[in-house]
Amino acid sequence: MTFDDLALAPAILKALAEAGYKTPTPIQAQSIPLLLQGRDLLGMAQTGTGKTASFALPLLHRLAANPRPAPKNGARVLVLAPTRELVSQIADGFEAFGSHLNFSVTTIFGGVSQFHQVNALQDGVDIIVAAPGRLLDLIEQGLCDLSNLEALVLDEADQMLDMGFAKPIEKIVAATPGERHTILFSATMPKSIAALVDSLLSDPAKVEI
Ligand code: AMP
Repeated sequence: MTFDDLALAPAILKALAEAGYKTPTPIQAQSIPLLLQGRDLLGMAQTGTGKTASFALPLLHRLAANPRPAPKNGARVLVLAPTRELVSQIADGFEAFGSHLNFSVTTIFGGVSQFHQVNALQDGVDIIVAAPGRLLDLIEQGLCDLSNLEALVLDEADQMLDMGFAKPIEKIVAATPGERHTILFSATMPKSIAALVDSLLSDPAKVEI
């Protein structure tokens, strides 16, 4: 199988070729067709398996297929991840795979001034990649509005719960529309993750590698 077989937009295929990606990894081959259809997805996969592209590629494809202005103070896609490093890596992925599309990507995390993050949000962005703590802080200050969000990804959900982000995640999700495309990745499946999946995902497809 090649990426061409996955019916992704030509602009995305071009970016993949430039990044030297030829063959989808197993998690990509399984997840991308389901996500292109708009299915909710529970993915059990570790870092290093190519899981970033498995959600970034179909989400970019769907944004491009349904053009719409970025919502003011908000975004069309939100990815939550546990650490600043992972947030940056995921944002780099969206930038690289979307290099021939015109989407704005912004990162939100703590430990730095919120000034540039708030500025970036003001005009609206297409894709926010965020750590839960700082994002909730901005929502509670009235500086981020997720009421027009289309898709939500929780990456490394088990790590986020281990780091004590259960409550912030619950509050962030409550600020998003009930009708949304939801994707959750976790390396492990403790009861707390199973409960999160039940509460957030609707009839999810399951992919495990
Ligand atoms: P991830 O698990 O998303 O952090 O990806 C792990 C590494 O594999 C990253 O350096 C990616 O750039 C790379 N990668 C992911 N998918 C592919 C692919 N289909 N072909 C080649 N490299 C890939």
